[in-house]
Amino acid sequence: MAPARVLILGGTGEGAALARRLASTAGLEVITSVAGVTDSAAAGLPGQVRQGGFGGVEGLANYLQSQAIDLLVDTTHPFAARMTANAAEAASRTGVPWLRLDRPGWTPQPGDRWTEVADAAEAASALSRFGPRVFLSVGQGELEPFAELSDRWFLVRMVAPPRQPLPLPRAELIRARGPFAEADELELLRRHAIDVVVSKNSGGAATYGKIAAARHLGLPVVMIARPAPPEADTVTSVAGAYDWVMARAGAA
Ligand code: NAP
Repeated sequence: MAPARVLILGGTGEGAALARRLASTAGLEVITSVAGVTDSAAAGLPGQVRQGGFGGVEGLANYLQSQAIDLLVDTTHPFAARMTANAAEAASRTGVPWLRLDRPGWTPQPGDRWTEVADAAEAASALSRFGPRVFLSVGQGELEPFAELSDRWFLVRMVAPPRQPLPLPRAELIRARGPFAEADELELLRRHAIDVVVSKNSGGAATYGKIAAARHLGLPVVMIARPAPPEADTVTSVAGAYDWVMARAGAA
């Protein structure tokens, strides 16, 4: 029987972990797709790796058909909403079974001082309630709503160098790649005398250190809620995604 061809939409630790598990399973051919935003997303991935966008829904639908993909697993970041919406539409057009792997979001713990907001624009408005020194832990594409806040100072951390100058009048940029330990985040927040943390509700352990560190210091966190999830078969773990693939691979 021909091996089942599985396309993983990756760019996350979960996507890499799933690729490793599936690539060592007989009867499967695994392709992982990464956006190509950071060079390292593709590093060390087993199986076939493709980099760069597909060209919207149309491009992904064509890829699924031309590459005879049997199963599609979307493991992209919870805030990569465009890719997930494209996956939903392309899977529906082509009839390729698809799964969404969505790690659970964080929930407030005793001692947390969260202000939950819908998006980066609401987060920028919420900052007027807090002190002026902000650890702004959002993506490069989400800085614009903060550009008007000339009375705030921002600490910004990025994996890749910014594609253009930061649109923030008063900011310091640091480059680092997670995971980030709570002790290091505590030190960072103290060293920069941070008053408030802005974070996306990414979930997972790799970037939770700043949330735990803020709790430890009694600092407020402006937490940006996730975009609405797609209507899809959804699992919350790599093990769940592995089982979903294995349950269907034989029939593919
Ligand atoms: P996005 O806004 O949902 O996607 C923008 C476009 O990038 C998509 O339309 C698609 O281009 C391309 N793309 C995204 N993920 C891709 C993938 N796995 N393979 C091929 N093309 C992909 O996504 P984003 O928020 O910019 O995230 C980009 C990547 O970084 C994703 O893989 C995501 O898992 C990862 N990431 C994102 C975050 C975050 O906070 N957003 C955090 C950590 C990692 P086409 O329309 O041309 O196909």
